[in-house]
Amino acid sequence: MKTRSDALKNLRQALTEAGFETAALDARLLLLSALGISATELITRPDSPLSAAEAETLAGFTRRRLAHEPVARIVGTREFWGLPFRLSPETLVPRPDTETVVETALDLIPDRQAPLRIVDFGTGSGCILVALLHELPNATGLGVDLSLGALRTARINATDNGVGSRSRFALSRWADGVSGSFDLIVSNPPYIASGVIPSLDEEVREHDPRLALDGGPDGLEPYRVLLLEAGRLLVPGGLIVFEIGYDQAEDLTALAEARGLEILRIAPDLSGNPRCIAM
Ligand code: GLN
Repeated sequence: MKTRSDALKNLRQALTEAGFETAALDARLLLLSALGISATELITRPDSPLSAAEAETLAGFTRRRLAHEPVARIVGTREFWGLPFRLSPETLVPRPDTETVVETALDLIPDRQAPLRIVDFGTGSGCILVALLHELPNATGLGVDLSLGALRTARINATDNGVGSRSRFALSRWADGVSGSFDLIVSNPPYIASGVIPSLDEEVREHDPRLALDGGPDGLEPYRVLLLEAGRLLVPGGLIVFEIGYDQAEDLTALAEARGLEILRIAPDLSGNPRCIAM
């Protein structure tokens, strides 16, 4: 019978031969998930044999990965800001670059103990909102999305990460059904120009929801809508932080300035591209 370490080695090899650059990491995440064990358990008991059911689950995971389904989709969770997030077909897989939004907001907030009111438009898995609430102990948050499936997932993620009692979720197209005053508006809206979607990486194009990617003809439509509503929702002196596409900093600056908003920061992502704009 195959042991855990044999299974890991075989899977890593299969993924390497198929050209996956992240073969070693992928193999480990898939094995841990298929067996329902922790990394520590794998290290301490590498010679335990796989049961028939475990081997079958792992074989299914392997087939899906070889067909280029993202690992996060297969295992159904992804870590963001050091916290676990569940995914559903209606949520984007949280990207490490999106942590730039959380970092920038936290850096520009004058008092982390304040009872801030946060709204997150297009909350998806809830990752930005939940990470912020995790860091801001007295803040409350509203997550808004057009997808009911996404909202259900975000609600679970808020609860599982201990911020459920300070979170609300609402079904709405952007700010249509939203009223109230907020100290912080955040969003990682869909910002890919519709025409560019066919040329996206296969793992994004085939597995992330189009609703979470498609930002209209020039990719800027959601920002126009949100900036139009910001005056109604944001308290004087409030903060707006958006994720943006790598080439959208200039356009966003122009859109913001046309509405009389001052740009406070443009922050780079892990590859050095402007990924976040604060105003
Ligand atoms: N950054 C995402 C990507 O990698 C795009 C997400 C979005 O449109 N907000 O495709």
